[in-house]
Amino acid sequence: MIHSEELHDEIGDNHIATSAKNPVRDDAFEISDEEKIELIKKDVESILQTLGMDLTDDSIKGTPNRVAKMFVKEIFGGLNPDKKPKASTFDNNYKYGEMLVEKNITLYSTCEHHLLPIIGRAHVAYISSGRVIGLSKMNRIVEHYSKRPQVQERLTMQIVQELQIALGTEDVACVIDAKHLCVNSRGIKDIESSTVTSEFGGKFKEEKTRREFLDYIKLETKF
Ligand SMILES: [Zn+2]
Repeated sequence: MIHSEELHDEIGDNHIATSAKNPVRDDAFEISDEEKIELIKKDVESILQTLGMDLTDDSIKGTPNRVAKMFVKEIFGGLNPDKKPKASTFDNNYKYGEMLVEKNITLYSTCEHHLLPIIGRAHVAYISSGRVIGLSKMNRIVEHYSKRPQVQERLTMQIVQELQIALGTEDVACVIDAKHLCVNSRGIKDIESSTVTSEFGGKFKEEKTRREFLDYIKLETKF
């Protein structure tokens, strides 16, 4: 029998997601952001203290507060469902019936196994079934789900599911190509490798539609 701590190390080291949902507790939002910042500040202080850092030094005095604010308000701000952008859609008045691709969306997320950055690009596409969504809304949806401790496979699926609900169609796809600093800067230290994940819904499961989407992603945008 594998000891549970070893099992959890194994899961984290291999970046295996245990669920399509972020593992968030039911009581996650019972305390305010301000209370969280105060608590995390003390935790970061404790880590630096244990590492032997001199917290009276002017350079790192403000670090615990800075890190706590960054966790709660910025890089993990997307845990809070209240902060989800409103995915307003509109009637497809101009009857555009082809695929729409929003490519090269900059993506900053955080690996939930090491709390190190995931940096990459997301490419999102849909075929309208009568509703359309503002282009920047697609960026905002990517941003929202990225601002959590994440696993790339789950992030890819969440972006697709969110757009499927907003647009009322299964015909949504997402490809993410990203570098995980936990692989690039530590452990195996492979700076060249990146991870590609994809989720294809509805018509995007068909070879022809999928191929078209993947060809658009490869187009170089010249100005
Ligand atoms: Zn990692």
